[in-house]
Amino acid sequence: MTRSLTILGATGSVGASTLDLVRRNRADWRVVALTANGNVAELAELAREFSAEIAVVADESCLADLRVALAGSGIEAAAGRSALCEVAARPVDMTVAAIVGCAGLAPVMAAIEQGGTVALANKEALVSAGAVMTAAVERHGATLLPVDSEHNAIFQCLAGNDLAEVAKITLTASGGPLRTWTLAQLEAATAAQAVAHPNWDMGAKISVDSATMMNKGLELIEAHHLFPVGLDRLGIVVHPQSVIHSMVEFRDRSTLAQLGPSDMRVPIASCLAWPARMESPCEPLDLAAIGQLTFEAPDETRFPATRLARQAAEAGGAAPAVLNAANEVAVAAFLAGKIGFTRIALLVEQVLESGTLPPAPQTLDEVLTVDREARATATAFLGQRYSGD
Ligand code: NAD
Ligand code: MG
Repeated sequence: MTRSLTILGATGSVGASTLDLVRRNRADWRVVALTANGNVAELAELAREFSAEIAVVADESCLADLRVALAGSGIEAAAGRSALCEVAARPVDMTVAAIVGCAGLAPVMAAIEQGGTVALANKEALVSAGAVMTAAVERHGATLLPVDSEHNAIFQCLAGNDLAEVAKITLTASGGPLRTWTLAQLEAATAAQAVAHPNWDMGAKISVDSATMMNKGLELIEAHHLFPVGLDRLGIVVHPQSVIHSMVEFRDRSTLAQLGPSDMRVPIASCLAWPARMESPCEPLDLAAIGQLTFEAPDETRFPATRLARQAAEAGGAAPAVLNAANEVAVAAFLAGKIGFTRIALLVEQVLESGTLPPAPQTLDEVLTVDREARATATAFLGQRYSGD
């Protein structure tokens, strides 16, 4: 049976992996909407290839170009943040939420409100909105499936078990490209070095997050909302080979792990086909060739981001949204060459510790206000002199 599909963030890394699977199974899917930030040429090409009903760019100044690029195709063109939300609200069987950052939150909420299945890659949206998002999922009878490889692994390991049976959930972390660097080396790390991930091919923002370990911090908060077993039952272990994508230990001390190649098409395929399975084009796992799986404890002296994220999760309320917003500002500044690598976590800590936290947001608008204000605070700190740069 053909199912309808919308991809928010179709031109990104997760978007491309999703479309690769759809391309191999064209008859199974009817593409409704594809969206991008401002990459008109690529978006128009994808919209034509997949015969989308509508293509949307978030950047309004790109609308005229998008219209030209889609001329004669019969594909609708739209632009702007509200168009993005309107399109996300169109009923579909499956929405793949693959925008990067809190910019994806409002469209994800719109997709949840139409009550379909949302395959969530956009972790920043869940980190920022937390209970506001999980309550909306309940209220609208939507289904949230985790695309993030760790959470997808946990979801598969849980396989219908009651969360009350869980003793511990362990997120694995590759440790990123700078895992073995000393603090002094980390201070001089460049953007090119930070995005050169050894195992995964991803967008720039998540690659930097992976290098700082903030990605694991965000994932800890993500897991806290998706699998509410209590923060004391959520752990992190560094596993440089990225073969085990996470594990669940049950109270009888039986631990289930999910293994697979480091290719996002595996967790995406698991979401697209759920609760069934589909063929994947990925190479099968060759454990004999891999030889060894190793594990080590995270080092929060060199990589303080996981500690900050855990503290934000414990504080709850607005803290995770503040953490996320400050991190987005810091990562953008690092990628632009404005701050050094180790200042990313320092800036996040500075913003979290400045003044009192706003009250816990209860609505989407309140989350967006917390996000906006934390960005302003982070940007103001960026303008100040800092001896480490
Ligand atoms: P990416 O940078 O490759 O792609 C991001 C997509 O979002 C693009 O289509 C871009 O046009 C769009 N976009 C960017 N800014 C936007 C804005 N302001 N408004 C609207 N659209 C915007 O990112 P990615 O690596 O594909 O990651 C997407 C999300 O998935 C992130 O939240 C990331 O943490 C998560 N994720 C990615 C991977 C991975 O392997 N890449 C793995 C797990 C989770
Ligand atoms: Mg992940």
